[in-house]
Amino acid sequence: MSHDVVIIGAGPAGLTAAIQLKRFGFEPLVVERERIGGLVLNANLVENYPGFPDGISGQELVRLFSTQVSWLGVNVMPEEAKQLSMNEAGLSVVTSRQVLKAQSVIVATGTIPRRLDVPGEADLRGRRVFYGPIDLPRLGCSADIVVVGGCDAAFDYALAASSRARSVNVIFRNAKPRALNLLVSRVRQEDNITLYPNREVTRFETSNSKLVVETAEEAGGGAENKSLVCDYALIAIGREANLELLSNARIDEKEAGGLGLFFAGDVRRGRTGQIGIAVGDGLIAAENVARFLKNESHL
Ligand SMILES: Cc1cc2nc3c(=O)[nH]c(=O)nc-3n(C[C@H](O)[C@H](O)[C@H](O)COP(=O)(O)OP(=O)(O)OC[C@H]3O[C@@H](n4cnc5c(N)ncnc54)[C@H](O)[C@@H]3O)c2cc1C
Repeated sequence: MSHDVVIIGAGPAGLTAAIQLKRFGFEPLVVERERIGGLVLNANLVENYPGFPDGISGQELVRLFSTQVSWLGVNVMPEEAKQLSMNEAGLSVVTSRQVLKAQSVIVATGTIPRRLDVPGEADLRGRRVFYGPIDLPRLGCSADIVVVGGCDAAFDYALAASSRARSVNVIFRNAKPRALNLLVSRVRQEDNITLYPNREVTRFETSNSKLVVETAEEAGGGAENKSLVCDYALIAIGREANLELLSNARIDEKEAGGLGLFFAGDVRRGRTGQIGIAVGDGLIAAENVARFLKNESHL
């Protein structure tokens, strides 16, 4: 059996495409490897998405997205797309359990976090070192957190953690953070958040069931080392396009469209964008798929 359209990724881009394709009368199949909602689940407070004048937490927004797609009867399959292939027979998506044949595919796989690539990071990943608050174990009020990064996401993570933890230490390499002024001033108002500028993480290790984050500061030509002891570290030093499933193919976006393959959301830009942009991209991808499928049916 060949599907009209398979959508890979159930973040805002993929879900919007699915909603619109349903309205066009198609039966999209969404494949999601983790949780419905994508990166939005990590957003502390979304204040720039129209319709929510007081802002809305990322998790609550995702709850509303999920209600809408389940009410419309969109099929979301909890599987990982491992590979996408294109040949004379058409498009196929190889998942962890099966091969899905499709007339068209929307890749809405978002981004993956950059790693620090320091000793200890890989070993402690998923136990002490995390890349988004949604993956952290439940925090007690005595938990101490280190956030690594000076961008919007790092400051958003610090704010989210500060209400649930005893202390949050934010380490970043530059003299000043690169986050929105709005987020920086909110962080500065929190008594339990401390900023460590001009500092780099050099190693993670554990000691007496705590995480030790070794850092170095370049000051006056000499490196000053400092260890921060905490329970968990959250790393937010940027993200890049998640194109792992296309690793065997070099695909030009314009040529791909002619074959029924479309891209939507952060994966197109190769960095974290905005929910509104991902939603717009999802709508455009759905229109392109509908046009492609209608033309195909005339052949
Ligand atoms: C901390 C934080 C705060 C933010 N706050 C805001 C904000 O206030 N306002 C705003 O507009 N934006 C905000 N953003 C940005 C916003 O969340 C993203 O731009 C948006 O989620 C991108 O949507 P997307 O659908 O392109 O990708 P994603 O949301 O990343 O979704 C991609 C989905 O694809 C799935 N996937 C990936 N690979 C596979 C595979 N091989 N098989 C199956 N599934 C796969 C992933 O599991 C994921 O669910 C924030 C981001 C962060 C990190």
